[in-house]
Amino acid sequence: MKKFVSQFKKEKNLFFYLFVSIVLIPIFTYEASNADAHYRTHLSIPYFFSLFFCFYLLKGTSRKIAIWGYWFFTLVPNIVIISFFVMSGTIMLSTGFRVIFATDVKEVNDFLSQFLSVKLLSASIVYLSLSLWFAIKASSQLEKALTSKFKLLIAVCVFLAISLFYPFRHMITTIDFYKSFYNYCKELKEFATFYESRKNIKYGVTSELNDSIQKTFVIVIGESANRNHYSLSGYLRCTNPKLQEIENKQELLVYNNVISPFTYTTAVFKEVLTFANYENPTLYTKDASIVELIKNAGYKTYWISMQADNVPSFYRNIAMLSDVYIGPTSEKWDENAIPLLRDVTKDDVDNKVIFIHLRGSHFAYSNKSPTEYKIFDFKKDTIISLVKDKLNEKEKKTIDEYDNSIRYTDFIFNSILKEIKESNTSSCLLFFSDHGEEVYDFRNINGHFMSNVYPYQCKIPFILWRSGKYEEEMPELLIDTSRPYSIENVIYSLFTLNALRYEEDDQTKSIFSFQY
Ligand SMILES: [Zn+2]
Repeated sequence: MKKFVSQFKKEKNLFFYLFVSIVLIPIFTYEASNADAHYRTHLSIPYFFSLFFCFYLLKGTSRKIAIWGYWFFTLVPNIVIISFFVMSGTIMLSTGFRVIFATDVKEVNDFLSQFLSVKLLSASIVYLSLSLWFAIKASSQLEKALTSKFKLLIAVCVFLAISLFYPFRHMITTIDFYKSFYNYCKELKEFATFYESRKNIKYGVTSELNDSIQKTFVIVIGESANRNHYSLSGYLRCTNPKLQEIENKQELLVYNNVISPFTYTTAVFKEVLTFANYENPTLYTKDASIVELIKNAGYKTYWISMQADNVPSFYRNIAMLSDVYIGPTSEKWDENAIPLLRDVTKDDVDNKVIFIHLRGSHFAYSNKSPTEYKIFDFKKDTIISLVKDKLNEKEKKTIDEYDNSIRYTDFIFNSILKEIKESNTSSCLLFFSDHGEEVYDFRNINGHFMSNVYPYQCKIPFILWRSGKYEEEMPELLIDTSRPYSIENVIYSLFTLNALRYEEDDQTKSIFSFQY
């Protein structure tokens, strides 16, 4: 026992260094909202002891290299996990890591301006100081002895075996971080050849609409719009004055039971633009996308992106398969889509399908509406939140900014509609958001996270407008605005709207179909 105590005293710096790097954060996040948070903490303990054994076998320089190597290995993932936990109350999962890898500098700035707080900064600094302190102490305890090759081999084998073993690979978040990065890089490699391999494929798809009538179909995809913040859906702040005017003229179909399948853009687009859905999640690479099918049916396709699509992604690949791809734009406001749309509607082509991807209401919200749309002010009017008494001024202001962005999108919708009406063609406009957003609606949380999802993050606006000419030409839609629907199947609804015929079609999955 005495020998053990003296041995432990000798190795206490190593012990505490590994404890801080491996177990401290799981303890800190023990009460996270993830279903498996407790399991993750418990699993970190055998992982910690296994790594302690590996490091214990190493002597002299090998140990020093191992300590600093592991410090760098865990630095970024651990800071990310702490920050995300402080912000969302959850442990980041691989889906979240992938969003980070696909984030550019501008988005990082947006993120920091929305979520950077004293609490977040303090937690990261505490972790950084502790791990650095123990790493210095543990590595300065240098012995002259060399590690035998045999012990080095055992240490490396145990480290690899335990790190690659399924439960640890999946549940030890630092390993999951690098595993997700590896998968992300693999996907990027596939994206590099995507366009060339797909651009000339022919699909047997036809449109049953009358060829002699000019058509303009517009699909507007919003961003992070929570339906509960739409006055059209009963929100008490007037966030949809223009849409309300159109609805009053009974020109608008406002669906009230539509959700998104995920809470982040890239995952939603995989299902929105293809046949992939909950039952068949991998179909997005195996079958045609809606852009390709519409193109093959004889329409000219356009994609106007207001989002800075600088990072390769699956949906940017699909967008670029359009006949005309406009984007990314460096312009700040969604209204910059309007002159682009005007030019497109004047294009001398009979049949057009135009996709518009807005910046919408993604954080930072204050950057999503110009000065004239800074309308709501919690000091003068009432904010709508079940936890409003628990919110500080910054959080209340966040609700104002979010509502301003929704009201600005209302103006954008109306402006797009004006351009379509001007074209005087058989036309329709379908608007929906990629996912929703939680804005302190019922708990002290703001954002959209798969790890801590709540209906506010998935309840989305889904709105259809049709021109008179379209209704004459295409009378057989079934309109029931209370139909429950997930946009994972929206491709089938677009088939109905465009009267497309394709062997993979399944009208039981279309919100506008009689067969639904
Ligand atoms: Zn999104």
